[in-house]
Amino acid sequence: MQEMGYTRHARIVWNKLAGMAPAYTVRFTCEYLLWFYPKGHMLFPDKDTRGKYPTIMQETVKRHSQKPECAYRMLEDMFRQAEKLNYLQEGSETCGMSGVMRCFYNYLLSIKRKEYGLLLPKNKKLRIGLIDVDGHNFPNLCLMKLSAYHKARGDTVEWYDKDKWYDLVYMSRVFTDTYSKDYEGSVKAYHVIKGGTGYGLDNKLPDVVEHTHPDYGLYPQFAGTAYGFLSRGCPRGCGFCIVAGKEGRKTQAVADLSEFWGGEKEIKLLDANILACPDWERLLGQLADSRATVDFTQGLDVRLATPEKVAALNKVRTKMLHFAWDNPEDDLMPYFKRFLELTRVKDKRKRRVYVLTNYGSTHEQDLYRIYTLRDMGYDPYVMVYEKPTAPEETRKMQRWVNNKRLFYTVKDFKDYDPGSYRKGR
Ligand code: SF4
Repeated sequence: MQEMGYTRHARIVWNKLAGMAPAYTVRFTCEYLLWFYPKGHMLFPDKDTRGKYPTIMQETVKRHSQKPECAYRMLEDMFRQAEKLNYLQEGSETCGMSGVMRCFYNYLLSIKRKEYGLLLPKNKKLRIGLIDVDGHNFPNLCLMKLSAYHKARGDTVEWYDKDKWYDLVYMSRVFTDTYSKDYEGSVKAYHVIKGGTGYGLDNKLPDVVEHTHPDYGLYPQFAGTAYGFLSRGCPRGCGFCIVAGKEGRKTQAVADLSEFWGGEKEIKLLDANILACPDWERLLGQLADSRATVDFTQGLDVRLATPEKVAALNKVRTKMLHFAWDNPEDDLMPYFKRFLELTRVKDKRKRRVYVLTNYGSTHEQDLYRIYTLRDMGYDPYVMVYEKPTAPEETRKMQRWVNNKRLFYTVKDFKDYDPGSYRKGR
């Protein structure tokens, strides 16, 4: 409770008059009822009830986990106008309180049932706070969808403000501890829901939220760009990659473009392997018809870039293509050459290739892929697996390759001296 920002106000002793006698020793006839309030937000009882009730209650226990009715009566009396929610007794009608909210939050936490919308408290508008734990240069798609969904319900949605109190706070985190820090402040809310790859692979948005048009207004700094997935999953299952575990080892169409695009000039497509999707033709056709410029952000599978698929890609107004050459044991040269012969994307800066390092490859194998790609007319981009523990040489290589001004000036890695460039030579 402390971590959630609550302070204990009172400990009320409930004398149950009868109770268990484990180990045949004393009889446990008392229980504590604890009264907490969110720091700085104490709800005061109606004036005529202040000091009216003592900190000892007496009532015979009726059934397991049921709280004494005199406690409910006391709360009803002390807070006559306040709206009350009973999180403890699901479905309880005691004092007009309802277990609906508890069902709802349990649902969100387990994300197993489909009746999300049906379980929301219909007559209560919620105050929703959002925390983008590690977002910097990229908007958080899940939060944008949650925002849109809640706004459509009439809820109030805003970025979390530590000086306010919320019914529900969503925290979304993309990266794990290796690359980002978790949120360290306390969260003032009745319920907090954490999601995103940074908190595990088994949390997914409920369908009804997943297919909501994102609230792009949440990130005005990225206005004019649409973000989303047309397909999910990847059949390859590379050892370092979370996609197969999270989305499945099969690429499937999951949405039409209109679900997340509404005329924006640019589309950032987040699909892991759209060329492996049986519906690639229809989906690429939608991208082409939009006339928006498209950034294929996550890597097209060059092995699947057949003449038919490249012809479909050629109809798309392309802002950026991303491929990947992750495994040095794979000879992808023939595939990259074939793509070059077929593509209409003539600017090599738009033909970027991720090169994975520090995942079982030698330094020589890394350099081989980098030089080969550059010589073929692609723009290599070094990714470092587990970067904080990677060899210094690999990190130095990444700085060289990914700084494009340096990379195209200093042709050979052995001539790259970071010290001299830092001094501005
Ligand atoms: S091909 Fe790409 S998306 Fe698919 S498993 Fe490998 S790294 Fe992940």
